[in-house]
Amino acid sequence: MSDLRGGIDLGGTKIQTVIVDGEGDVHGEARAPTPTEGGPADVARAMEDALREAAAVAGAKPDDLRGVGVGSPGDADGKTGVVSGARNLPGWEGSFPLGETLAEALSCEVRIGNDVQVAVEGEHALGAGRGLDSLLGVWWGTGVGGGIVLDGKPWLGRGAAAEIGHMVVKRNGARCPCGRRGCMEAYAGRAAMEAKARRDLAKGVETDLFHVMKKRGKDRLTSSVWEHALREGDALTESLLRRAIRYLGTGIASAVNLLDVEAVVIGGGLGVRFGDRFMDDLAAEMHKHLFVADDPPKMQVAELGDLGGAVGASLLVVS
Ligand SMILES: [Zn+2]
Repeated sequence: MSDLRGGIDLGGTKIQTVIVDGEGDVHGEARAPTPTEGGPADVARAMEDALREAAAVAGAKPDDLRGVGVGSPGDADGKTGVVSGARNLPGWEGSFPLGETLAEALSCEVRIGNDVQVAVEGEHALGAGRGLDSLLGVWWGTGVGGGIVLDGKPWLGRGAAAEIGHMVVKRNGARCPCGRRGCMEAYAGRAAMEAKARRDLAKGVETDLFHVMKKRGKDRLTSSVWEHALREGDALTESLLRRAIRYLGTGIASAVNLLDVEAVVIGGGLGVRFGDRFMDDLAAEMHKHLFVADDPPKMQVAELGDLGGAVGASLLVVS
Protein backbone atom coordinates (compact mmCIF):
# COMPACT_ATOMS: atom_id res chain seq x y z
CA MET A 1 0.00 0.00 0.00
CA SER A 2 1.24 3.50 -0.80
CA ASP A 3 1.73 6.20 1.79
CA LEU A 4 -0.92 8.32 0.09
CA ARG A 5 -4.20 9.26 1.73
CA GLY A 6 -7.17 11.31 0.68
CA GLY A 7 -8.85 14.29 2.28
CA ILE A 8 -12.26 15.79 1.48
CA ASP A 9 -13.54 19.14 2.72
CA LEU A 10 -17.30 19.13 2.30
CA GLY A 11 -18.49 22.73 2.16
CA GLY A 12 -21.84 24.36 1.46
CA THR A 13 -20.69 25.63 -1.94
CA LYS A 14 -17.79 23.38 -2.91
CA ILE A 15 -16.23 19.99 -2.36
CA GLN A 16 -12.43 20.18 -2.17
CA THR A 17 -10.40 16.97 -2.35
CA VAL A 18 -6.67 16.33 -1.97
CA ILE A 19 -4.28 13.43 -2.10
CA VAL A 20 -1.38 13.86 0.33
CA ASP A 21 1.59 11.78 1.46
CA GLY A 22 2.62 11.01 5.03
CA GLU A 23 4.35 14.40 5.31
CA GLY A 24 1.21 16.28 4.30
CA ASP A 25 2.57 17.23 0.86
CA VAL A 26 -0.19 17.50 -1.75
CA HIS A 27 0.15 15.20 -4.79
CA GLY A 28 -3.22 15.90 -6.39
CA GLU A 29 -6.32 17.96 -5.85
CA ALA A 30 -9.74 18.47 -7.39
CA ARG A 31 -12.79 20.48 -6.57
CA ALA A 32 -16.43 20.34 -7.56
CA PRO A 33 -19.48 22.41 -6.74
CA THR A 34 -21.61 20.95 -3.95
CA PRO A 35 -24.93 19.74 -5.42
CA THR A 36 -27.72 22.17 -4.60
CA GLU A 37 -30.50 19.68 -5.33
CA GLY A 38 -31.19 16.05 -4.49
CA GLY A 39 -30.05 14.63 -1.19
CA PRO A 40 -27.12 13.19 0.77
CA ALA A 41 -26.60 10.31 -1.71
CA ASP A 42 -26.08 12.84 -4.52
CA VAL A 43 -23.61 14.79 -2.41
CA ALA A 44 -21.76 11.55 -1.60
CA ARG A 45 -21.54 10.72 -5.30
CA ALA A 46 -20.08 14.16 -6.10
CA MET A 47 -17.55 13.63 -3.30
CA GLU A 48 -16.60 10.23 -4.71
CA ASP A 49 -16.09 11.68 -8.21
CA ALA A 50 -13.96 14.58 -6.94
CA LEU A 51 -11.81 12.21 -4.87
CA ARG A 52 -11.30 9.91 -7.87
CA GLU A 53 -10.26 12.92 -9.93
CA ALA A 54 -7.66 14.02 -7.34
CA ALA A 55 -6.37 10.44 -7.10
CA ALA A 56 -5.95 10.30 -10.88
CA VAL A 57 -3.90 13.53 -10.78
CA ALA A 58 -1.69 11.88 -8.13
CA GLY A 59 -1.37 8.74 -10.28
CA ALA A 60 -3.25 6.59 -7.78
CA LYS A 61 -6.52 4.72 -7.44
CA PRO A 62 -8.76 5.16 -4.39
CA ASP A 63 -8.14 1.57 -3.26
CA ASP A 64 -4.36 2.26 -3.23
CA LEU A 65 -4.92 4.88 -0.53
CA ARG A 66 -4.36 4.27 3.16
CA GLY A 67 -7.76 5.81 3.65
CA VAL A 68 -9.80 8.95 3.16
CA GLY A 69 -10.71 11.54 5.80
CA VAL A 70 -13.74 13.80 5.48
CA GLY A 71 -14.36 17.12 7.19
CA SER A 72 -18.13 17.53 7.27
CA PRO A 73 -20.55 20.20 8.42
CA GLY A 74 -23.45 19.28 10.67
CA ASP A 75 -23.18 16.75 13.46
CA ALA A 76 -20.42 14.44 12.21
CA ASP A 77 -20.04 11.31 14.32
CA GLY A 78 -16.44 10.09 14.06
CA LYS A 79 -17.28 6.68 15.55
CA THR A 80 -20.14 5.72 13.26
CA GLY A 81 -19.41 7.87 10.19
CA VAL A 82 -22.98 9.18 10.30
CA VAL A 83 -23.60 12.86 9.51
CA SER A 84 -26.82 14.47 10.78
CA GLY A 85 -28.43 17.88 10.40
CA ALA A 86 -26.07 19.30 7.76
CA ARG A 87 -28.61 22.02 7.00
CA ASN A 88 -26.58 23.91 4.41
CA LEU A 89 -26.52 20.76 2.22
CA PRO A 90 -29.53 19.65 0.14
CA GLY A 91 -32.02 17.37 1.88
CA TRP A 92 -29.69 16.67 4.78
CA GLU A 93 -31.89 17.55 7.77
CA GLY A 94 -31.80 13.91 8.96
CA SER A 95 -28.99 11.36 9.31
CA PHE A 96 -26.96 9.75 6.53
CA PRO A 97 -24.22 7.08 6.79
CA LEU A 98 -21.64 9.12 4.84
CA GLY A 99 -18.60 7.15 6.02
CA GLU A 100 -20.06 3.76 5.11
CA THR A 101 -21.38 5.00 1.75
CA LEU A 102 -18.02 6.46 0.68
CA ALA A 103 -16.05 3.47 1.99
CA GLU A 104 -18.14 1.16 -0.19
CA ALA A 105 -17.89 3.41 -3.24
CA LEU A 106 -14.13 3.97 -2.93
CA SER A 107 -13.17 0.52 -1.55
CA CYS A 108 -11.05 2.04 1.20
CA GLU A 109 -11.34 3.10 4.82
CA VAL A 110 -13.16 6.40 5.36
CA ARG A 111 -13.12 8.50 8.53
CA ILE A 112 -15.43 11.39 9.29
CA GLY A 113 -14.76 14.48 11.41
CA ASN A 114 -16.14 17.95 12.03
CA ASP A 115 -15.05 20.35 9.27
CA VAL A 116 -13.71 23.10 11.50
CA GLN A 117 -12.04 20.74 13.97
CA VAL A 118 -10.11 18.93 11.21
CA ALA A 119 -9.03 22.25 9.68
CA VAL A 120 -7.73 23.34 13.09
CA GLU A 121 -5.91 20.02 13.50
CA GLY A 122 -4.37 20.61 10.06
CA GLU A 123 -3.05 23.98 11.22
CA HIS A 124 -1.71 22.30 14.37
CA ALA A 125 0.11 19.58 12.43
CA LEU A 126 1.30 21.51 9.38
CA GLY A 127 0.39 25.20 9.57
CA ALA A 128 0.19 28.15 11.97
CA GLY A 129 0.06 25.98 15.11
CA ARG A 130 3.04 23.71 14.34
CA GLY A 131 4.92 22.57 17.44
CA LEU A 132 2.43 24.02 19.93
CA ASP A 133 0.87 22.05 22.78
CA SER A 134 -2.30 24.09 22.88
CA LEU A 135 -4.27 26.30 20.56
CA LEU A 136 -7.72 27.67 19.89
CA GLY A 137 -8.88 27.88 16.28
CA VAL A 138 -11.59 30.42 15.47
CA TRP A 139 -13.11 29.90 12.00
CA TRP A 140 -14.76 33.18 11.04
CA GLY A 141 -17.06 32.63 8.06
CA THR A 142 -20.79 32.20 7.40
CA GLY A 143 -20.95 31.15 11.04
CA VAL A 144 -18.21 31.18 13.64
CA GLY A 145 -16.82 27.72 14.38
CA GLY A 146 -13.98 26.61 16.56
CA GLY A 147 -11.48 23.89 17.30
CA ILE A 148 -9.38 23.19 20.37
CA VAL A 149 -6.05 21.41 20.82
CA LEU A 150 -4.94 20.74 24.41
CA ASP A 151 -1.80 18.85 25.46
CA GLY A 152 -1.09 18.28 21.77
CA LYS A 153 -4.40 16.49 21.21
CA PRO A 154 -7.77 17.58 19.84
CA TRP A 155 -10.31 18.30 22.57
CA LEU A 156 -13.73 17.22 21.34
CA GLY A 157 -15.53 17.13 24.68
CA ARG A 158 -18.39 14.66 24.29
CA GLY A 159 -18.47 15.56 20.61
CA ALA A 160 -19.76 19.11 20.72
CA ALA A 161 -16.82 21.12 22.12
CA ALA A 162 -15.41 24.35 20.71
CA GLU A 163 -18.67 25.94 19.55
CA ILE A 164 -17.11 29.31 20.28
CA GLY A 165 -19.57 31.09 17.98
CA HIS A 166 -22.34 30.35 20.47
CA MET A 167 -20.57 31.71 23.51
CA VAL A 168 -22.79 34.47 24.87
CA VAL A 169 -21.17 37.87 24.52
CA LYS A 170 -24.32 39.85 25.36
CA ARG A 171 -27.27 38.66 27.43
CA ASN A 172 -30.56 39.10 25.55
CA GLY A 173 -28.51 40.43 22.65
CA ALA A 174 -28.97 40.05 18.90
CA ARG A 175 -30.79 37.00 17.55
CA CYS A 176 -28.33 34.29 16.43
CA PRO A 177 -28.94 32.00 13.41
CA CYS A 178 -29.05 29.19 16.04
CA GLY A 179 -32.24 30.75 17.45
CA ARG A 180 -30.74 31.92 20.76
CA ARG A 181 -29.72 35.46 21.63
CA GLY A 182 -26.45 37.25 22.18
CA CYS A 183 -24.10 34.62 20.74
CA MET A 184 -20.79 35.80 19.26
CA GLU A 185 -22.00 34.51 15.86
CA ALA A 186 -25.02 36.83 16.05
CA TYR A 187 -22.57 39.73 15.61
CA ALA A 188 -19.63 38.20 13.75
CA GLY A 189 -21.00 35.46 11.49
CA ARG A 190 -21.30 36.46 7.85
CA ALA A 191 -24.95 35.35 7.68
CA ALA A 192 -25.84 37.47 10.73
CA MET A 193 -23.82 40.41 9.39
CA GLU A 194 -25.71 40.22 6.11
CA ALA A 195 -29.05 40.13 7.93
CA LYS A 196 -28.03 43.22 9.90
CA ALA A 197 -26.89 45.01 6.72
CA ARG A 198 -30.26 44.27 5.07
CA ARG A 199 -32.14 45.58 8.12
CA ASP A 200 -30.02 48.75 8.10
CA LEU A 201 -30.62 49.22 4.37
CA ALA A 202 -34.38 48.88 4.91
CA LYS A 203 -34.13 51.59 7.57
CA GLY A 204 -32.55 53.91 5.03
CA VAL A 205 -28.87 53.57 5.92
CA GLU A 206 -26.79 54.30 2.84
CA THR A 207 -24.46 51.56 1.72
CA ASP A 208 -22.79 50.28 -1.42
CA LEU A 209 -22.65 46.69 -0.14
CA PHE A 210 -25.60 45.50 -2.22
CA HIS A 211 -24.47 47.35 -5.36
CA VAL A 212 -21.11 45.63 -5.04
CA MET A 213 -22.94 42.31 -4.57
CA LYS A 214 -24.95 42.77 -7.78
CA LYS A 215 -21.96 44.05 -9.73
CA ARG A 216 -20.08 40.88 -8.80
CA GLY A 217 -23.01 38.70 -9.86
CA LYS A 218 -23.74 37.39 -6.36
CA ASP A 219 -27.00 37.05 -4.47
CA ARG A 220 -25.33 36.97 -1.05
CA LEU A 221 -22.74 39.08 0.72
CA THR A 222 -19.77 36.77 0.21
CA SER A 223 -16.36 37.43 1.76
CA SER A 224 -15.18 38.99 -1.50
CA VAL A 225 -18.19 41.36 -1.55
CA TRP A 226 -17.30 42.54 1.97
CA GLU A 227 -13.68 43.02 0.90
CA HIS A 228 -14.53 45.05 -2.22
CA ALA A 229 -17.02 47.24 -0.37
CA LEU A 230 -14.44 47.88 2.34
CA ARG A 231 -11.87 48.82 -0.29
CA GLU A 232 -14.37 51.30 -1.77
CA GLY A 233 -14.62 52.94 1.64
CA ASP A 234 -18.24 51.98 2.37
CA ALA A 235 -19.00 53.21 5.89
CA LEU A 236 -21.57 50.53 6.83
CA THR A 237 -19.18 47.80 5.71
CA GLU A 238 -16.42 49.14 7.90
CA SER A 239 -18.68 49.62 10.91
CA LEU A 240 -20.15 46.09 10.66
CA LEU A 241 -16.69 44.55 10.31
CA ARG A 242 -15.43 46.55 13.30
CA ARG A 243 -18.47 45.48 15.30
CA ALA A 244 -17.71 41.85 14.39
CA ILE A 245 -14.09 42.29 15.52
CA ARG A 246 -15.20 43.74 18.88
CA TYR A 247 -17.43 40.76 19.62
CA LEU A 248 -14.88 38.26 18.33
CA GLY A 249 -12.32 39.83 20.68
CA THR A 250 -14.73 39.60 23.61
CA GLY A 251 -15.58 35.95 23.01
CA ILE A 252 -11.99 34.91 22.29
CA ALA A 253 -10.82 36.59 25.51
CA SER A 254 -13.36 34.60 27.53
CA ALA A 255 -12.18 31.38 25.89
CA VAL A 256 -8.54 32.29 26.57
CA ASN A 257 -9.35 33.09 30.22
CA LEU A 258 -10.79 29.58 30.48
CA LEU A 259 -8.21 27.59 28.48
CA ASP A 260 -4.96 29.64 28.58
CA VAL A 261 -3.85 28.38 25.15
CA GLU A 262 -0.50 29.29 23.58
CA ALA A 263 -2.00 30.58 20.35
CA VAL A 264 -5.23 31.65 18.70
CA VAL A 265 -5.43 30.81 14.98
CA ILE A 266 -7.99 32.72 12.92
CA GLY A 267 -9.30 30.93 9.82
CA GLY A 268 -12.47 30.68 7.75
CA GLY A 269 -13.53 32.75 4.73
CA LEU A 270 -13.63 36.13 6.50
CA GLY A 271 -10.78 35.20 8.85
CA VAL A 272 -8.33 34.45 6.07
CA ARG A 273 -9.43 37.49 4.06
CA PHE A 274 -9.41 40.02 6.91
CA GLY A 275 -7.20 38.36 9.53
CA ASP A 276 -4.01 40.24 8.74
CA ARG A 277 -5.74 43.58 8.30
CA PHE A 278 -7.68 43.43 11.58
CA MET A 279 -5.38 41.28 13.73
CA ASP A 280 -4.03 44.22 15.79
CA ASP A 281 -7.58 45.46 16.45
CA LEU A 282 -8.70 41.96 17.36
CA ALA A 283 -5.78 41.52 19.75
CA ALA A 284 -6.52 44.92 21.34
CA GLU A 285 -10.20 43.98 21.86
CA MET A 286 -9.15 40.65 23.37
CA HIS A 287 -6.62 42.29 25.70
CA LYS A 288 -9.33 44.45 27.28
CA HIS A 289 -10.96 41.31 28.67
CA LEU A 290 -7.97 39.12 29.54
CA PHE A 291 -7.72 38.30 33.23
CA VAL A 292 -3.96 37.66 32.98
CA ALA A 293 -2.85 40.28 30.51
CA ASP A 294 0.94 40.16 30.59
CA ASP A 295 1.37 36.99 28.54
CA PRO A 296 -1.33 36.92 25.86
CA PRO A 297 -1.51 34.05 23.37
CA LYS A 298 0.04 34.47 19.93
CA MET A 299 -2.53 35.60 17.35
CA GLN A 300 -2.07 34.08 13.91
CA VAL A 301 -3.92 33.70 10.63
CA ALA A 302 -4.38 30.16 9.32
CA GLU A 303 -1.58 29.26 6.90
CA LEU A 304 -2.83 26.28 4.91
CA GLY A 305 -5.13 28.33 2.67
CA ASP A 306 -7.89 26.90 0.49
CA LEU A 307 -6.68 23.31 0.82
CA GLY A 308 -6.38 23.47 4.63
CA GLY A 309 -9.73 21.83 5.38
CA ALA A 310 -9.07 18.91 3.01
CA VAL A 311 -5.46 18.43 4.16
CA GLY A 312 -6.65 18.53 7.79
CA ALA A 313 -9.31 15.93 6.97
CA SER A 314 -6.64 13.62 5.52
CA LEU A 315 -5.02 13.56 8.98
CA LEU A 316 -8.05 11.60 10.26
CA VAL A 317 -6.50 8.61 8.48
CA VAL A 318 -4.24 6.99 11.05
CA SER A 319 -0.85 5.88 9.71
ZN1 LIG B 1 -25.96 30.96 18.54
